[in-house]
Amino acid sequence: MRLILLGAPGAGKGTVAKMLTAIDGSVQISTGDILRAAVKEGSELGKKAESYMKAGELVPDELIMDIMGERLLEDDCKAGFLLDGFPRTIPQAEALKELLAKLGIELQAAVNLNVPREVILDRLTTRRTCEDCGAIYNVKSNPPKVEGVCDKCGGKVVQRADETEEAISKRLDVFNEQTAPLVGFYEKEGLLLDVNATSSDAVVEAIRKHVGV
Ligand code: AMP
Repeated sequence: MRLILLGAPGAGKGTVAKMLTAIDGSVQISTGDILRAAVKEGSELGKKAESYMKAGELVPDELIMDIMGERLLEDDCKAGFLLDGFPRTIPQAEALKELLAKLGIELQAAVNLNVPREVILDRLTTRRTCEDCGAIYNVKSNPPKVEGVCDKCGGKVVQRADETEEAISKRLDVFNEQTAPLVGFYEKEGLLLDVNATSSDAVVEAIRKHVGV
């Protein structure tokens, strides 16, 4: 599959991407995960990105395009890719369009995951993430078997630094201002698939039907 997953923070992009990778070996590419790993490592990229991320703001487009320009050339993308959290601005979407045209790659859809704001807020405040492998948990509906320890890799399960009430509210504002316009962009491109994303299983089914896998 070659898809973009669009949607507010907490809409379920990461969860759906992980479910889709199991279907046909497509790789999940999450710019948020790449940036968090860089921050943890203390790399140059991490140092540049950290303050934006903590504040719930977007990292500058140039940095993101540098990451993605390299990532999409890696071998594992040949099996397909699920873009999770990218693009997030119109300039990123335009740069991606140009990059894919150069590489001769066609997208199958930009899937817009629609979830009511109350559900998003509840999901984000109760979400916990493994620092090492990025596995996603929820303190109410899907806690790890041992509190604070990842079932999959034994890593530390934590609340993300940008999941304080203040940063969440900022991220939702940034989404409405800068990322929501991508729905219109992909509608014009003839690529938009709009789905009700209250249930991740239903989203996966809708995508499978749409792309025929
Ligand atoms: P996420 O895990 O997708 O919610 O991303 C966490 C944070 O990483 C965001 O709030 C941004 O600060 C940064 N980030 C991730 N992807 C992008 C992107 N495509 N453009 C700009 N900033 C991004």
